[in-house]
Amino acid sequence: MSDNIQRVTVLSKTTWTPNLFSFTVTRPESFKFTAGQFVRLGVNPSKLKYYQNKSDEVADKALDEDIFRAYSIVSSPFDEVLEFFSIVIEDGAFTSQLQHLQVGDELLLNTMPFGFLTLARYQKPLPKDLWLLATGTGLAPFLSMLQDLQTWEDYEHIVLAYSARSKDELAYIETIERLQEDFGTLVDNPAKLIFVPIVTREKIEGALSERLPQLLLNGKLQQQAGIALDIDSAHVMLCGNPEMVEDTKETLKSMGMVMNRRGEGNIAVENYW
Ligand code: NAP
Repeated sequence: MSDNIQRVTVLSKTTWTPNLFSFTVTRPESFKFTAGQFVRLGVNPSKLKYYQNKSDEVADKALDEDIFRAYSIVSSPFDEVLEFFSIVIEDGAFTSQLQHLQVGDELLLNTMPFGFLTLARYQKPLPKDLWLLATGTGLAPFLSMLQDLQTWEDYEHIVLAYSARSKDELAYIETIERLQEDFGTLVDNPAKLIFVPIVTREKIEGALSERLPQLLLNGKLQQQAGIALDIDSAHVMLCGNPEMVEDTKETLKSMGMVMNRRGEGNIAVENYW
């Protein structure tokens, strides 16, 4: 095993929908990362407990090799455990196996973190507002950033817009509410985090229903957030469906925003797959 690879143990699993789940694993003491970064996680399907209770015929079908995939970390750099948020892709080699995870299973963690969707990429002076726009499991890096007090201290308003197909797929709502309360209290401003849920394939009271680029162009996102979005006042981070990232990036550019390079510019992006 390479020096960077460590064994970690599954501590808990939360199932949100048949296709969405989260899990926590032990955190190796030496493992450091910045909020917003990714790691590579590995699974050897044949070693999962799930297959130990199956007939030989089923168990023999499980691959006996390590499969790795990039995952961004939900938990904060200060947490004792590492948390991840995953979709199940039926024909995907990795997640179709990972869905069978059980507490006590072992995974492999490549302790070399990567990715540049971190707030440290922005040079000071910072604008007053931070906009975090996510679809699906692309919420993960933003949850990590929102558990870092520095994020709350650095911006006057933080808008978290989170789009899912259905209400059921809007995971972590209670966590977001808890962050609003806990960190809002710490910075003496409970209204600092403005959460804008978006549900695109069901009509849900209190949620917007169009896709992010449309909501930016027709101004409904800004209206719901209660603040303007312009080149001088905002940093904007995008994470999730690659088509959303592309379409939203182009929309923001058409509104005068620029990509962040060498610390300068508004927009930073990460495709989630
Ligand atoms: P998704 O299709 O990405 O939808 C999540 C949200 O993003 C929905 O509100 C959707 O709106 C919106 N959206 C999609 N395309 C958009 C665009 N171009 N601009 C703005 N918003 C957009 O849902 P998902 O469940 O995360 O993933 C969908 C499929 O992608 C899955 O079937 C999976 O097989 C595949 N996939 C996902 C991942 C992953 O890590 N999430 C990885 C590999 C493959 P609409 O309802 O209008 O589409």
